[in-house]
This record gives sequence, structure tokens and C-alpha cells, in this order.
Amino acid sequence: VVWSLDEIPLIDHHCHQIVDAHHQADVETLLRITSEAPAGYHRQDLTDRLVWHAILDVVRRHTGYKAEDEACLADILRQQDYADYCRGLFQDAGYEALYIDTGYQPKGAASLESFADLSGARIRPVLRLERMAEEEWRPGLSFSDWWEAVEHRIEGARASGFIGAKSIAAYRCGLAVRPVSKEEAEVAYDEWMAAKTGRVPIERASDSPEFSQKPLRLTDERLIYYLLWNAAPMLAQQGLPLQFHVGYGDPDTHLLKGNPLLLRDFIETFTPQGLSITLLHTYPYHREAGYLASVYNGVYFDVSLILPLGLSGARRVLCEALELSPYSRFLFASDAHTRPELFALAAEVFRDALHHHLNDPLVMRCTSASTRERWARMVLHDNALQLYVADDGR
Ligand SMILES: [Zn+2]
Repeated sequence: VVWSLDEIPLIDHHCHQIVDAHHQADVETLLRITSEAPAGYHRQDLTDRLVWHAILDVVRRHTGYKAEDEACLADILRQQDYADYCRGLFQDAGYEALYIDTGYQPKGAASLESFADLSGARIRPVLRLERMAEEEWRPGLSFSDWWEAVEHRIEGARASGFIGAKSIAAYRCGLAVRPVSKEEAEVAYDEWMAAKTGRVPIERASDSPEFSQKPLRLTDERLIYYLLWNAAPMLAQQGLPLQFHVGYGDPDTHLLKGNPLLLRDFIETFTPQGLSITLLHTYPYHREAGYLASVYNGVYFDVSLILPLGLSGARRVLCEALELSPYSRFLFASDAHTRPELFALAAEVFRDALHHHLNDPLVMRCTSASTRERWARMVLHDNALQLYVADDGR
């Protein structure tokens, strides 16, 4: 049986929007997205990384740009017909569908409609829970009215076109999700309300002088855990998976609190009720994630952004992720954003790593070519369609 991994279309189950044509020649942003470092990180250190040179190589192959130096890069990017350029990058990489977390959007983001045109791929949105809960907040709104509005949004998620939900609890308070009583949540809500309207609770004011300027975001673990514990059955009911940010991210995330092993109680409570949980990014906890996928029903994961950004280790990381996990629980994701070149690189590096893994002598000796092809199709495409049942594939 002769088959080529490059011909299998991709479903990207976690990514974000790219910029519109007004920003097509923004080289500084192209450089900055090769790292999770904040804006103050030294530029010179960013250019001396393999990933930047891999991005330049993507640009070279898609534009005919030859130069080694970056001096004329902006000119080259400006000369491209942005729609053709993007379409070429996405289609050569084989993207069939993109599941978009709109909770993070680059400055100058293309709309979902225009992203569908630019990529030629099917676009499906994912509901970011913490962002939605913040959007439903109003000055003076009571806890029960706020919660009613939040519940309404979750219950209507599938009818509103969302194919799943996402939590960034790892960024806000950590992944040790536990049940929280309504009374405890209400106390937390009142503190949040007081802080947002400038009336700082006395006990907080003393230990945290900057509290009154900061707390617009929902960061209180009591409210976030209340939200997640109550959202889980509503999502399960609608057949919508719940994605968790896990591990790797910008320094705004406390990496230690983003270990997926902390989700044990949540997994043991809700996966038997039919909730599917997908662990996003996961590095450096991809082995923990693979372990969880190997012992619990309903747990899925990816390695996404570490593959393009840490490409020299991509083959090893993918092999480690698959040490224990069934191929049926591992998904392709790019976690790409902002620039089309990053989508292209993520797909190339992932395909290379999966090809390398499936062509390992041990794997070759134990399996037939048709089994290896089936596994490749599952990881690149079929698992996502089976898991995200709200994507009708059209
Ligand atoms: Zn992401």
C-alpha cells in the first residue's frame, strides 16, 4: 500500500485568527510571534533562534525571496497579493478546517468570514468561557442575574454555532478545579463586583496595594471553578468538548499551576458523564497529558505550538506524547495566530514529526502500512471530526 502523509487533509482543532491585509508587511510582528516572550524581550535574541530562520525559509519558498538578510523582507511581503499568498500557504499545508479560539485576537485581526476566504478552510468558533463570563458582567448586576446570563450563553453554545468551549483557568488561577458552593461563589462575585466598581474589600486592600487597579479580569478561583464545574454537564449535554489551556504559554501563565495532573478530580467527575476534555499545548507536560489520555476515557490532547517554535525537538516531543497515548486521543493543532507563515510552519513540522514517528523501525516492524495510514489519518483529521460532533464537515 502506497500512501503519503502529505495528502491527508488537516483539521486544526486549536488556533487563532491572522491579521488582515493592512498588516501584511509587519516584519516586527512576524518576528515576535516566533516566541512567547513579552514585548520587552530583546529583539536580537529572537533573531538568533532556529524558528525565525524556519519562518524566513517559509517566506522564501512561497515568494521567491532569495536574500539571506532581512533587509528587504518587508518589501517582499508588501509586494504579495495577500489573499493569494495566504491561500497558497494554507492550501499547500493542507488545511481543511480551523477551529478558532476568538478569545485571543491579534491587533488588526481578519474577521472569521474573511479568514475563511484567506485560508480556503472551513472555520468553526470555540467559546472561551472566562471571556464570556466577563462579557456578561454589568455594574450593579446581582450574582443570580449574572449567573443566569452566563448559563444562558453556555446552554445556547451549540445552537450559536460553537463546536466546543475553552477554559484558560491555567492562566487565571491554575488547574486544580474543585467544586465550589453557590454561597462561596456569591461571596467571590461580590468581591469582584466591589473591586471592579472601585470599592476595594478591606481585607484585600491591605495585602495587595495594586488590587484596585487590576481586577477587571476574572481571576478568582472560586468563580472560575464554579463556572467550570457547572459548565461541564451543560457542555456534555450538547456534545461539546471542553478544551483546557495546559502548560506552555507566555509568562502570564504560572507554568507550575498549568500541570494537567491537577485536573484529576474534574476528569474523574465529568468524563463518566460524557464530557470530552481536550488538553491544549501541554508541553512540557505532554507526557503527563499522554498518561492521562492512556488511563481515562474522554481525555484528548495535542502538542501544538511547541512543534513550530521548538522545532529542533519536534520529532522527540511527538514521540514522547505518543509513548502511552492511543493514536485515537492525539490531535493535530497549530495554535498558530497572527501570521499565515506560522500555520504553514506548524503543519510542515507536525507532518515531518509524525512521518518520522510512523517510519521508526520498531513501528514499521509491528504494524502494516494500512494501520500506519489509518493512525496518520486519525491524528491529522479523523479524531477531530469524531470528537467535535458539532462540526458537520461541510
Ligand atoms: Zn491558543
